Amino acid sequence: MTFDELGLHPAILKALVDAGYTQPTPVQEQAIPAVLNGHDLLVSSKTGSGKTAAFMLPVLHSFTRIPDAERNTKTQKQERQSARSRGRAFRFQPAAPKMLVLTPTRELALQITAAAAQYTKYLEQIRTVAILGGMPYPKQLQLLAKNPDILVATPGRLIDHLQSGKIDLSALQTLVLDEADRMLDMGFIEDIETIVDATPADRQTLLFSATLDGVVGKMAQQITQSPQMIQI
Ligand code: AMP
Repeated sequence: MTFDELGLHPAILKALVDAGYTQPTPVQEQAIPAVLNGHDLLVSSKTGSGKTAAFMLPVLHSFTRIPDAERNTKTQKQERQSARSRGRAFRFQPAAPKMLVLTPTRELALQITAAAAQYTKYLEQIRTVAILGGMPYPKQLQLLAKNPDILVATPGRLIDHLQSGKIDLSALQTLVLDEADRMLDMGFIEDIETIVDATPADRQTLLFSATLDGVVGKMAQQITQSPQMIQI
């Protein structure tokens, strides 16, 4: 199996060549077609299995199919300029991402953001932003003002921005919970529930975890619809 055979957009294939990826890992072989077909997923796989690309690549591919009119094309700066030129007052519009990746730690969030930057090298219109605890608020508001397509976040800080109206999840298409078991171990269950409640019911949900039983399994059941199981 090759990435080409998985039907990914040429701009993604080119970025993978640059990254030195020659063939999909087992989790990618199974997850990419399932995500492209719109399924929810429950995946048990370890760090190092290539799971980041397994969820990121098919979602990026789906973004290439969104008509320009529906894209997050304008940054806040451009919105402000166009409001001014129309003689209208500018109000801060909340960031309305299409994809949200929740991760337990800053380190993992930064790794995923770096991977997204690699994979979108030739998809310049797609913007990814990391929202992390410990990062100064003004800096984060500046990042959110870019109106990113993809947000990678730790749950606590995301909730702060949701509650202050800086992030709107009502247009979200894909929710990824990465290392879901670790997020639950760290006590993020209520935050995750609040975040899930702010997303559309018809979103696609992709859950990755070392284990899929116990509390994780119960949560998975609540937040996914007829999920496909992948165990590597
Ligand atoms: P992950 O499990 O997503 O943290 O990925 C582990 C490492 O494998 C990262 O350094 C990725 O860049 C790399 N990687 C992911 N998929 C592939 C692939 N298909 N071929 C080569 N390396 C990969």
